[in-house]
Amino acid sequence: MNDCIFCKIISKEIPAHIVYEDDLTIAFLDRNPVQKGHLMVIPKNHTDEFQDMPPQDYEAVWNTVKKISSHLKRVFASPKIGVHVEGFGVAHTHIHLIPIYTGFQDFVPKPESERPTDQELTDILEKVKMN
Ligand SMILES: [Zn+2]
Repeated sequence: MNDCIFCKIISKEIPAHIVYEDDLTIAFLDRNPVQKGHLMVIPKNHTDEFQDMPPQDYEAVWNTVKKISSHLKRVFASPKIGVHVEGFGVAHTHIHLIPIYTGFQDFVPKPESERPTDQELTDILEKVKMN
């Protein structure tokens, strides 16, 4: 889709802090993280809602979620990895993966003043980049 911001990240028209990429999926840091290490896994083929992905994309996305979750848990020493899917922000399937420590309150968005700088995101990327 021409006007989709996530499709532009996939085509590298828009820069992102890319943590992982394979033939069918890509994962990148959320610019407005609710926790350090918060990232999104998306299919490379544009599909608005996750339940409408073709089976091959659906399987690839959740395989990437599994792979990255174990990695995130190790890197951030978090007891759990939270998964959040709603899709109101961008109409391209995205699975939020969030290192969480205490429960639902870890999903609450941070005020704008607490958002990381580009350099802070780059520093986090250095810790979590997989390929
Ligand atoms: Zn898209």
